[in-house]
Amino acid sequence: MMFVEALRQSPAVLISFAVLFGLMVGSFLNVVIHRLPKILERQWRAECAELSGSAPAPAAVRYNLVVPRSACPNCGHRITALENIPIASYIALGGKCSACRAPISIRYPVVEAISGLMSGYIAWRYGPSAAMCGALLFAWAMIALAFIDLDTFYLPDAITLPLMWAGLLFNVGATFTDLRSAVIGAAAGYLALWSVYWVFKLATGKEGMGYGDFKLLAAIGAWLGWKMLPLTILLSSLVGALIGIGLMVLARHGRNVPIPFGPYLAVAGLIALFWGEAINRRYLALVHGLVPTDRGKIDKPIGRHTTERKKMSGKTRSGRHAVTRAAADSGTHRARAGAHRGRILRRRRDRDRRPREDERPPRRAHERRLA
Ligand SMILES: [Zn+2]
Repeated sequence: MMFVEALRQSPAVLISFAVLFGLMVGSFLNVVIHRLPKILERQWRAECAELSGSAPAPAAVRYNLVVPRSACPNCGHRITALENIPIASYIALGGKCSACRAPISIRYPVVEAISGLMSGYIAWRYGPSAAMCGALLFAWAMIALAFIDLDTFYLPDAITLPLMWAGLLFNVGATFTDLRSAVIGAAAGYLALWSVYWVFKLATGKEGMGYGDFKLLAAIGAWLGWKMLPLTILLSSLVGALIGIGLMVLARHGRNVPIPFGPYLAVAGLIALFWGEAINRRYLALVHGLVPTDRGKIDKPIGRHTTERKKMSGKTRSGRHAVTRAAADSGTHRARAGAHRGRILRRRRDRDRRPREDERPPRRAHERRLA
């Protein structure tokens, strides 16, 4: 109980714990990335054998995510608990197997580090809340999917489908977006890539992506809502195109060698989770020419969209006031302009209905302490 209290009270304790936990999960993700495709392949083989009526394969040794213990692929040396500490063991062993000195892939500590750092960031960002638990699950799933797709070109249903349901369930309580937006997001995410796939296939006779990609975007839509789908698709295509061209030029990657799309979708989904709202807001502001960049633009009428954006923004009012007031005291031009804008916004706010608690996006940890 004292430990739980400490997690609630101190952000430093929470973040350190999240990093450590994230490292351990990263270690487990390595196992999932390595074994899940093999487990699925065995299942498919067994099912094919059963259907074709051929003799069932000899009962293989049990192989799942827990047993057997991890072993060196070179010499079969069983990895001891002491050699299985995330990152630390890799450094201590100098990146080599303790028995045969064969090099261990740098991928293992990299996956652990990504998972640890991201978990720490999520804990800092959301504080102890349902949103934190959800964001952690989402991030871990994205890491696993990205690396599995890189290795094998699969995006296993065993991850994408439960991920989509989990996103819908989390949003029953409007954790990341409202349920309506989540349901539409799941359907639209699937259909968006499904249509691209068919247009591409009818036009060129080739398959540009797989059904796993549709399910992954459906899951992202279920977690983040349909409003994040354009951004996710745009980001993933952009990164995919850049890396694809880079590979073609640098590594003389053939034009017809397939490049998995899942990793880009996963990265784009994470960017959309963390910064999507800010990016969408900037974009809307740009479109409406409402970004105050200099003196002349500051007094522009503040229209409906500004109020809308204010409602969408995750900032608490008290935080906003504190900033503008502090800025007004400093007396610079920008600050005075900001304070002026703040006064207008405050007047507007008093006229408009305050959003109910359940309509507001989750606050960040430090804002919750302010409130
Ligand atoms: Zn070995």
